[in-house]
Order: sequence, then structure tokens, then C-alpha cells
Amino acid sequence: MGLRVGVIGVGYLGQHHARVLSEIPDVDMTGVYDSDQGRAHEVASRLRVRTHPSIASLVGECDAVSVVTPTMTHMPVIEEIFAIGKPHLFLEKPIADTLENAQRILDLTKKAGVILQIGHIERFNPGLEAILEARPKPAYIEAQRLSPFGLRGTDVPVVVDLMIHDIDIILTLVNSPIATMRVVGTPVITPHIDIANAWIEFENGCLAQVLGSRVSMEKLRKFRVFDREGRYFSLNFETRELSEARVTLAPGALPKIDRGKRVFEAEEPLKKELKSFVASILSRSPPKVTGEEGFRALQVALEVNRLAEESLKRFQQASTV
Ligand code: NAD
Repeated sequence: MGLRVGVIGVGYLGQHHARVLSEIPDVDMTGVYDSDQGRAHEVASRLRVRTHPSIASLVGECDAVSVVTPTMTHMPVIEEIFAIGKPHLFLEKPIADTLENAQRILDLTKKAGVILQIGHIERFNPGLEAILEARPKPAYIEAQRLSPFGLRGTDVPVVVDLMIHDIDIILTLVNSPIATMRVVGTPVITPHIDIANAWIEFENGCLAQVLGSRVSMEKLRKFRVFDREGRYFSLNFETRELSEARVTLAPGALPKIDRGKRVFEAEEPLKKELKSFVASILSRSPPKVTGEEGFRALQVALEVNRLAEESLKRFQQASTV
């Protein structure tokens, strides 16, 4: 028998979790649960898997559960799961809506001794994997993640929903504490910050400039790294196109620039991510994105959002004087 896995929440993203898990050879898909039972039946019948009438029913038959409900519900759903059993957990990003709720999730999973993986899916992008393998020593990073407006994810600010992907990647690349942050941002359509621009300075001197928007006309996911050894990486997360350059300086000569471009194949990132979760459970090895890393990304994202709100307030006060 394979690893028994179920999915809680089969909306926009959760339906793909259920589909992908059904396709992984080591997995027995035990079914889905959604508080919207009509939605659960629709997805379950399409994928020919079972629908469970409650979280208790699903958890009772699972070794692992994937939680893909709205961010505000992550903590209460996980409390309900752990009141019933101790399954390994795949939890979509962001880990939670507040640091208190994120800490509670870490405490519950640690006490149960289970694997917790957070859904920072960009870590599975082959272009980013290539950058991480090159072990750059970043001096300057520029990240842009822009999306047209849609209702999904608007229960939290854009920094916590979208920019958090780049924050997680930057914290993974730059191995140094944050020294200072300066942020500007504003709500445009929702009551939360919808567009923000953050300047993050690290103690080792690296500077990251990060733009996140959910009110853009076009979708854009770009990431550039300039490192201290004259290397440059420019990644388009969507097309998986990675441009690289290396500058060699010799006394008395013009700078020599070697350039290259790689386009990586399109293996579904969600499949790589969930396969990696299953492999981590079967080998009892740490997941590629731990709960602590999810917590760390949320901590910085919430602070970026707080600074954006603070700068907006200052601007509004100044303009009414
Ligand atoms: P969605 O609103 O489309 O789907 C959520 C589903 O959960 C709905 O079907 C809803 O009925 C169900 N639900 C709500 N409360 C529930 C509860 N208490 N118990 C069981 N089911 C419940 O949302 P979505 O866009 O699929 O997002 C879900 C999560 O996935 C969010 O945390 C979001 O941040 C994350 N997400 C991550 C990425 C990524 O790039 N990794 C992309 C999109 C969404």
C-alpha cells in the first residue's frame, strides 16, 4: 500500500493538488474534503476520488494531508486536524495570516513529530535551482512580481500573498540578517496594501529591491542577481529562461563579458513539489521548505507590510497639513 494522502480545500489550487497527488505512484489518494461540499463533489467526480463529509473522516484515513484552504483558515484547520490525528502536513503558503498562528502551527507539528512542508513553489523552479546551485554571493537583487487583479488571495495584503515568494527566495540566497528596510505601498482596490516596493538591506551589505503588485495590467515574474564575483543571473520564473553573464576584469584591458542563456524544461512545479514532500516522508528527511522557513518569510513579509502602511500614513498626514 502507498502513502495515504488526502486534500483539504479543493478550490483554484487544491484541485491541482488532488490531481497531482492522484498521479504520484507512491501515493494512495484517500479523497478530498471542502467546506463547500458541492465543490468537493465536483472535483472528486472529475478525478474519480472520494469525497469525505468532514475533516475528521479524511484525517482518520490519512498518513499525510495537503491543506489548500484560504490563508486565514490555515491555523483553525490545522488545529482541527491535530485534534483527530497526527498526519504529515503539506501546507500552502503563506504558512498563516499572523505570526502567532504560524507559531501555533510550528508547535503543533513539532509536538506531533511530523513533517511540515510549506508551499513556496518557486523553490522548485529549475531556473532558481540553477541559481542556487551556482552558490552566488549576492551584492544586489531585483525582484518583480506583478499580477492583474483577481479576487483570490485578497484576504491578505499583496506582500503576504505574492511578494512572500521573492522574500523567501531572497532569504534563502542571502545568508545574513536584515539590517534595515524601507518600504512604500498603497491600497488600490482592496482595503489592504495592493502594491508595494521594498528596499531590504542586509548586514553583509547585500541590497534587495522587491516590487509586488496585484493591480498590474500584465503578469511579470522577474528575478535578477548581481554577485560579488562579477556574475549576473536574470530569471523569468514563467518562461524558465535564465540569462547568465560573467564579467572578467584585467588590468589595462576592457572588461570581458561572457554571456549565456538556458531555457529549462516545463516539468509541472507542483508535481516536483508534492513528489518532494512524499519523498521526504518516505525517507524521513527534512522537507525542501521547512515550517521554520515559512515562518521566517512570513515574519519579513508582515514587517514589509507594516512599513508600507506606516509610510502611507505619514504621506497621508503630510498631504492634509
Ligand atoms: P480558493 O478560494 O480558490 O480555494 C479555497 C478552497 O478552500 C475553497 O474551495 C473553499 O470552499 C475551501 N475552504 C474554505 N475554508 C475551508 C475550511 N475551513 N475547510 C475546508 N475547506 C475550506 O483559494 P486558492 O486560491 O486555492 O488558495 C488556497 C491557498 O493556496 C491559500 O493559502 C493561497 O495563498 C495558496 N496559494 C498558493 C499559490 C502558490 O503559488 N503556491 C497559488 C495560489 C494559492
